Amino acid sequence: MEKNKLTIFLDMDGVLANFEKAAAQIPDVKRPDEVLDFSTFEPMPGAIDAVEKIIAMGHDVFIATTPPWNNPAAWGQKRDWIEKHLPKLKRKMFLTHRKDLLKGDILVDDSTYRGQYDFDGTFMHFGKHFDWDMVVNTIEQITKLQLN
Ligand SMILES: [Mg+2]
Repeated sequence: MEKNKLTIFLDMDGVLANFEKAAAQIPDVKRPDEVLDFSTFEPMPGAIDAVEKIIAMGHDVFIATTPPWNNPAAWGQKRDWIEKHLPKLKRKMFLTHRKDLLKGDILVDDSTYRGQYDFDGTFMHFGKHFDWDMVVNTIEQITKLQLN
């Protein structure tokens, strides 16, 4: 592994992709995650810019997402979303229900139900303690510290 290069995992729904906005369009559906087309979600505000900045810092960025088990089409739709919005992350996608098993430095995620607290590196709880500006600024600070 290259020195000073951080391995960073980004969650999709609620972090990169606006699941909530799409779900709000079908308020009567109990399990919107089982019917929505995940390839059609809008990016979260500021998300694409932020990821581009983190990639430009030289870090190794991956997607780590938990697809709904009962909506297998969503698995491919997530891949299509990445191709459309973040083509640089092509072939850098983890589908997992166990984020604690990922090996890396930073995990950016809005949920805590998939082992996020047990992730070995730093868990940045998106939507609670972190927004995209804070994620980018914090990674920028770490990057600077490593270079000095
Ligand atoms: Mg999420």
